[in-house]
Amino acid sequence: MDTSHDTTQLLRRRWNQLNARLAVENIDGLVITGGSDMEYLTGYKAMPLERITALVALAPDADNPEPPKPTLYVPELERARVADNPEIFDLEGWDDSVNPVELVAARLDKSRRVAVSNDMWSIHVLGLQALLTQKDPTSSITTISEAFGGLRSIKSVEERNLMVKVGSLADVVATQLQQGEIPLVGRSEAQVAEDIASRLLAAGHERVEFVIVASGPNSASPHHHPGDRIIQANEMVLCDFGGKYMGYCSDTTRCVFTGPIPDEIAEAYEALHRAQAAGVSAAQPGSPLAEVDHASRGVLTEAGYGDYFVHRTGHGIGVQVHEEPYVTGQTSVTIEPGHTFSVEPGIYIDGKWGMRLEDIVVVNADGPQRCNNSPHELISVEA
Ligand code: ZN
Ligand code: ZN
Repeated sequence: MDTSHDTTQLLRRRWNQLNARLAVENIDGLVITGGSDMEYLTGYKAMPLERITALVALAPDADNPEPPKPTLYVPELERARVADNPEIFDLEGWDDSVNPVELVAARLDKSRRVAVSNDMWSIHVLGLQALLTQKDPTSSITTISEAFGGLRSIKSVEERNLMVKVGSLADVVATQLQQGEIPLVGRSEAQVAEDIASRLLAAGHERVEFVIVASGPNSASPHHHPGDRIIQANEMVLCDFGGKYMGYCSDTTRCVFTGPIPDEIAEAYEALHRAQAAGVSAAQPGSPLAEVDHASRGVLTEAGYGDYFVHRTGHGIGVQVHEEPYVTGQTSVTIEPGHTFSVEPGIYIDGKWGMRLEDIVVVNADGPQRCNNSPHELISVEA
């Protein structure tokens, strides 16, 4: 198999998709500096240093229906790290005697609306802005998020398949947890987290991204860092974990109870379960993404837990665990086939217990598809 050919095909499909979006959103030029977006479009993982690495692309327009080839400007001393791919981009090294932002501004030519990486350094953005307004006072700079809701937010069919696949790898471990195969009581959260990490690898992930194990009152802290606390009988254990497979991330949360489930917890979990299902059902193409948040939050509010659901309902996921689009009640994003995000409502009672139920959902033309299918019930695992 010729992998370089496959990679080039993959990158070209991504560029075609991106160029179509640039045209729709009226963006003339794009500047990507480092991070996952650059890796996604070129295969190159840039060094996040003050010497700027910038990928500059111009949108197709009426005069140039075929967009010119993008240029990757890389510090001369890092040039040897780049796997050149002349079919996808031109490579230009810059040395310390020049101002690289001037090269970028010149390459943007007559671009009036320019979108830049969300995390481009302000020193570079301000420099670029000054140069662009010198050329054309009506020019403006926006972020990639503002311009089109993230570069990688719409997943191709092959990316969606990878998300389903990596989700199934995380489910292997979630199921082991629910079947009581991962010892909990008497071990520290950190020990259990380590156990889950090695199981994520054994299930087929190439890398572990994160593991949260939060027991008893710690489960009320949504981003708890697993520590020395020894897990007891008769308490909640919240496990949230994910890894990477072929460049794409998994992320799922399941809770188990180390003993018979008290009524108070069973009642709350019943509402949580319904809230999560309502959020997933709302993930329909053409609907406002905010509806997903409203649907989950609505169920919890009606059941009296609204004040204890203290975070957004979810986040986009793909090359990074958290990426666009973010599932909040305020987002103006409309759901499109290819959007891939978590639906993860939670209830957190400070000092007592917390619970969260999380699946990744890919949106297809005919509706939402869960990437996580381990049981959604709260399961009692006896010590
Ligand atoms: Zn998670
Ligand atoms: Zn998540």
